[in-house]
Amino acid sequence: MTATLIDGREVAATLRRELAVRITTVDFSPVLAVVLVGDDPASAVYVRNKDRAAQNAGITARTIRLPAATGLAELLSVVKSLNDDADVDGILVQLPLPAGLDSAAVISAIDPAKDVDGLTPTNVGLLASGRPGLVPCTPLGVMKLLAHAGTELRGARAVVLGRSLLVGKPVAALLTAADATVTIAHSRTRDLAAECRRAEVLVAAVGKPELVRADWIADHAVVIDVGINRLADGRLVGDVATAECAAIASAITPVPGGVGPMTIACLLENTLTAALRRRGLPAG
Ligand code: NAD
Repeated sequence: MTATLIDGREVAATLRRELAVRITTVDFSPVLAVVLVGDDPASAVYVRNKDRAAQNAGITARTIRLPAATGLAELLSVVKSLNDDADVDGILVQLPLPAGLDSAAVISAIDPAKDVDGLTPTNVGLLASGRPGLVPCTPLGVMKLLAHAGTELRGARAVVLGRSLLVGKPVAALLTAADATVTIAHSRTRDLAAECRRAEVLVAAVGKPELVRADWIADHAVVIDVGINRLADGRLVGDVATAECAAIASAITPVPGGVGPMTIACLLENTLTAALRRRGLPAG
């Protein structure tokens, strides 16, 4: 069989249009503050893309650029001033921070109600306990792609490759909340291929180019590839060997054009959600 390609660009564009329409129905423009420390070129591009997408959706983006030499105390005081600023709905500290800055301390300082990346201990705890909070953007995007593909999650055997705080763990929590039977596999798993072959839904978030091969995939599996890996020849590939796995899976996300575009769209959604909740309005 040849898998259906799940088009993340299209799903993300639809979500962004829907958000723009919803924002025209409220009498304020949600404000997203992005803190960028240092001059990592990939982060700078990502932040520029966020700014543009926010503006197009009717969200006011404020970028606070700080030099790489910024100390922890100064960064914490910037976060505190954004927490205290009644106009700011969402705060995102762009990761990775320059070496020497304690990201966990910085993330923990963000007001959980404004934590649009869903990474504060409060939001991690709310997700783990199945209560409403703000959910990390990429995992939220993964769930929206599964919904778009019409994937039945209830009772499904799902395998998540990778156990990071940013992707693997929250994806596993969301799949569990959707009634899937979830296995988390990682760098210490004994037989990754065998674990993956049991998966009706496979989410790969490892950061190893084309680690997942055709003989790791069960017939008709739905495969979501979160990985973004730049090869020496400049090509961008995921954690899944897409072409050969597509011969076996029923649906698969491409890289680029799969999960990637969903992340910013979900960040915008989280910003609107935070803005509505802060005003005591229903967030949908
Ligand atoms: P990470 O490095 O924090 O975590 C990687 C995880 O993979 C770890 O839990 C580790 O145990 C596991 N792992 C490492 N080597 C392994 C191996 N050989 N076999 C099995 N498991 C292994 O990375 P992350 O932040 O979770 O990101 C994972 C990938 O997703 C990266 O390629 C990253 O660029 C990409 N990513 C994409 C988006 C997006 O918007 N599409 C967002 C975040 C991350």
